[in-house]
Amino acid sequence: MSDSLTIPSDLLPRDGRFGSGPSKVSGFQIEALKAAESMLLGTSHRQAPVKNLVGDIRQMLASFFSLPDGYEVVLGNGGSTLLWDAAAYALVQRRAQHSVHGEFGSKFAAATLGAPHLDASSILQADAGSIATPELEEGIDVYAWPHNETSTGAIAPVTRLRGADGALMVVDGTSAAGGTELDVSQTDVYYFAPQKNFASDGGLWFALMSPAAIERVERIAASDRYIPSILSLQDAVANSRQNQTLNTPAIATLVMMRAQLEWLMSNGGMAFAASRTADSASRLYTWAERSELARPFVGSAPHRSPVVGTIDLDASVDSAQLRAVLRANGVVDVDPYRKLGRNQIRVGMFPAVDPEDVSRLTASIDWVLERLVD
Ligand SMILES: *Cc1c(COP(=O)(O)O)cnc(C)c1O
Repeated sequence: MSDSLTIPSDLLPRDGRFGSGPSKVSGFQIEALKAAESMLLGTSHRQAPVKNLVGDIRQMLASFFSLPDGYEVVLGNGGSTLLWDAAAYALVQRRAQHSVHGEFGSKFAAATLGAPHLDASSILQADAGSIATPELEEGIDVYAWPHNETSTGAIAPVTRLRGADGALMVVDGTSAAGGTELDVSQTDVYYFAPQKNFASDGGLWFALMSPAAIERVERIAASDRYIPSILSLQDAVANSRQNQTLNTPAIATLVMMRAQLEWLMSNGGMAFAASRTADSASRLYTWAERSELARPFVGSAPHRSPVVGTIDLDASVDSAQLRAVLRANGVVDVDPYRKLGRNQIRVGMFPAVDPEDVSRLTASIDWVLERLVD
């Protein structure tokens, strides 16, 4: 049986987790959980210790992203997915434009398309593996696009659309935030969740909001539009200013995220994170370009993601079989996005992943392919 192949241990990655979310959690984060046992875990989120924990995270995010004056770090429960509905209710005035080139961008588009109080959204669509970018259009008050489309491994520029004065730039940074360079001033709402570059668990959302975004939120909240309270960004802003959330957050998730932020900051912050993921990505794509059996899925090199690498495999290779062998050897979660339906592997290269382990992964794959493919 091919999946009884045993990859030599000197080739194997030291840590076999390459998931694109949830992603690898490091040992020091588990230590942080242990240290949080008596004063944080199982204590009230309305008391100082948890409020300080939330405050630390908000402060470190502000520093990591060099937050421009007047921008605020807002958070709540429900993950990035909740932000899509919150935006449909609490951020879009009349009509949104979505640049869509994969599943995550398309899900946000579906949220505003389905909102009965909004005009039908404008959708700019591009094929998976390439990118769609926002285009100036009359009557649009929110331009939305994903920074890193996790389903395809394509990264898009984050640049304010010229001439779109008064409109908000709302960027899904879920898998990009914390792993690549970003100029926050190019966005009005840059949102993400803790289970990718921040190496924590899911369930929360964070948003870096500009003064214009907060002003929009307040204006819509004051109108007669019905906004369910869990989707109220005005409530979220008010709670966040108190280092609070509307309802109970996952404290362990916050503890692990703080530990990851401390690690990132003590190593050099955004520049460190970006150079580490760029190192990993260059190892992966260079390998794929040289391989006879693999090639980068994203054709245009500048759009190849530094954090989520997608690699197409030759028809003579069965991705499912390769992944079964890898998994049996402890190398897990190099699965492609299911709905993309390609003979592919997808490699999470968030800062927690050691670039050396990416080299070991490609060496392990070569070793397996030599034995699987005749
Ligand atoms: C993972 C991901 C999401 C979904 O995040 P949840 O926290 O699970 O809702 C949304 N957008 C992108 C780009 C993602 O990578």
